[in-house]
Amino acid sequence: MEKTDFVQITRQPTIPENEFYPMIYKMYEEIWFTRLPPEIPTKLLTVKRAKNVVTPPDAPIPDCITCGLCCEMMPCVGVRPHEDIAPEDYWDITVEGKNGEIVVDRYLRRNGETFACQQLTNDNGKILCKIYETRPQMCRDFDAGSDKCHALRRISGLEPYLPRKETVAALEKLEARPQRGESSEMIDSVKFVETDAGTLDIVASLKDESKKTIYNFDPKLETWRQFEFDALTLEEAAQLVENRRQMQKNK
Ligand code: SF4
Ligand code: SF4
Repeated sequence: MEKTDFVQITRQPTIPENEFYPMIYKMYEEIWFTRLPPEIPTKLLTVKRAKNVVTPPDAPIPDCITCGLCCEMMPCVGVRPHEDIAPEDYWDITVEGKNGEIVVDRYLRRNGETFACQQLTNDNGKILCKIYETRPQMCRDFDAGSDKCHALRRISGLEPYLPRKETVAALEKLEARPQRGESSEMIDSVKFVETDAGTLDIVASLKDESKKTIYNFDPKLETWRQFEFDALTLEEAAQLVENRRQMQKNK
């Protein structure tokens, strides 16, 4: 996929799943390969300041208004079904079903040339979000001053690299961190699979490569997104389903 293809694809409000992921992988490459290599793999790092392992508790919290790096560098910002985002601000990701297209995921749109979130804006040097009040939960979950925030700033040259001794100590702490869930309980990804009755099974691929159907829903009555289940344990997924059903009942 060429860089110019992005502009074409990103103009579409709906993107087939088999076109979306190659585009996103290419965006990751373009965004990340122009930066310094991280001294700690960023996927190991938390986005919650309260769960920091690498950053000292008294480290100053960076100012987002002069930064915006997480909004530039994290291309997959999921939009949950109940979130109040205008249709022109997201892409629906689809697969072909027996009776037409099925929406399986929804993500904030990116700029086809810079790859940054389309809502990121620079107002005379102030980096702002155009939909700050209604931004998705995924954006709210990313804390300024978290280990991942500092890592993005280090690889972009806004903060100095950690000294070697601190890097080694951080890697040791990360390795000693308690692991979440047993592999047979952790969801790697989910796929919606259409049944003969026209309903959708939510089928989870688990970390140990086994598969488990965690829920079946009628897309005429309920809306789910595949990304909502990423990296949950089976117990957390069951709780998510239960909470959503309660929320719908109380409407
Ligand atoms: S959360 Fe961190 S990376 Fe994101 S804009 Fe704020 S300071 Fe920058
Ligand atoms: S919606 Fe706002 S906070 Fe979220 S990624 Fe885009 S610019 Fe950043």
